Amino acid sequence: MIIIDGSEGEGGGQVVRNACALSLVTGKAVRIENVRAKRSKPGLMRQHVTAVEAARVIGNAECEGLNVGSSALSFTPGRVVPGEYRFAVGTAGSTGLVLQTVLMPLLLADAPSRLVLEGGTHNMLAPPFDFIAKCFLPVINRMGPKVEARLIRHGFYPRGGGRIEVDISPAPLRPINCLERGSLIGVSGQALFAGLPFEIAEREINIVRRDLGWSEREACVRELPEDQGPGNILLLEVQFEHGTEIVSGFGQLGVTAERVSKKAVGRMSGFLESNAFVGPYLADQLLLPFALAGGGSFTTVKPSQHSLTAIDVIGRFLDRQLGFTQQPGGTHVLTVR
Ligand code: ATP
Repeated sequence: MIIIDGSEGEGGGQVVRNACALSLVTGKAVRIENVRAKRSKPGLMRQHVTAVEAARVIGNAECEGLNVGSSALSFTPGRVVPGEYRFAVGTAGSTGLVLQTVLMPLLLADAPSRLVLEGGTHNMLAPPFDFIAKCFLPVINRMGPKVEARLIRHGFYPRGGGRIEVDISPAPLRPINCLERGSLIGVSGQALFAGLPFEIAEREINIVRRDLGWSEREACVRELPEDQGPGNILLLEVQFEHGTEIVSGFGQLGVTAERVSKKAVGRMSGFLESNAFVGPYLADQLLLPFALAGGGSFTTVKPSQHSLTAIDVIGRFLDRQLGFTQQPGGTHVLTVR
C-alpha cells in the first residue's frame, strides 16, 4: 500500500483527490495520513468526502476513514465501472472538484459515462464551471477523449443548488505539446450576479473596462435568476489561437467589489504579459492527464505549490518524471518523461 503524508507540500484537499484518482487508474491501494494538515480546519470536509465517495462508487473501492473530520483515509480500488452517475455535494461544495476526482478513471474506462453533479458551480478556491468547460476540457479533448460539460443551473456558496452534466467518451490519452498560445483572438469579461444589487457587478465591470481597456461589448454585467443566488463572480476570459484562460474574482461578504475586481484584473494582466499557454490553476490540473499520457509539455507561469505537490503525489503511483524548467523570458516549461 502507498502511504502518503497529507501534510507535505500544499497539504490540502488536492492531495486526497489526486491520490484517489491515481489509485483507481493504477489499481494501487493508498493510505493518506494527516489529511489536510496545513488547513485551519484539518481533516476531510464535506466536499472532500463527496469527492472520495464518488471515486469509491465508480471504482468499487473500499474505504476506511471516509467521514467528515477524518484525518486518515485508506482507499483500496476495485474495477472502474463506467455508466450513469449522480453525485450531490450536500452543501455548496464544488462540483468541479468532484469531477476532478473521477474524470481520469472514467476517461480511461472501456465505455462512455454520463455524470450529473449537484452542488456549487462557482466556488471560491475551486475551478468555476466556465474554467472547466473552456480552459480545461479543450486541452483534454485534444489529448484524445471527448468530454462535454453543460451548466444546467448556477450554484453559489453557501446555498448551492447548482447542477452540471458531463458526457465522457473515453480514449487513451495521447501526449500533446502546448507551448505557443498563438495570438490573442478575443477577450470577454462577465460580472455574474444573482439575488444581489446590480451595482456590485457594475462596479466590478467598470474596473475591468478602465484597467484592461476592454470595451462595453467585451465586458458586461449578467444577471442570473434571483433564486440562483445570492452570488457574484467576475469571469475574465482571454482566447488565444490555441487555448483559453479564465481568471475569476469571487464576490464575498465584507470584500468590496473594487477589491474583487482589481485582484482579478491584476492576475489577468500578469497572464497577458507572460507568454504562458496555461495559468497557474490549469497547470496543476493538467499534471495528472499529462502524466497519464506519458509525455507532452506545456508552458506556464511560475509553478505553484499545488503543482509541485501534485508532481510528488503522481510520482508515488507512476514511473514518470515531471519537471518544470525556467525559460529565459520567465515562463516555465513542464515536461513529462
Ligand atoms: P483545501 O480546503 O484543503 O485547500 P480544496 O479541496 O479546496 O482543499 P485545494 O487543494 O486548494 O482544494 O485545490 C483546489 C483546486 O481548485 C486546485 O486544483 C486549483 O487549481 C483549483 N482552483 C482553485 N481556484 C481556482 C480558480 N480561480 N480557477 C480555476 N481553478 C481553481
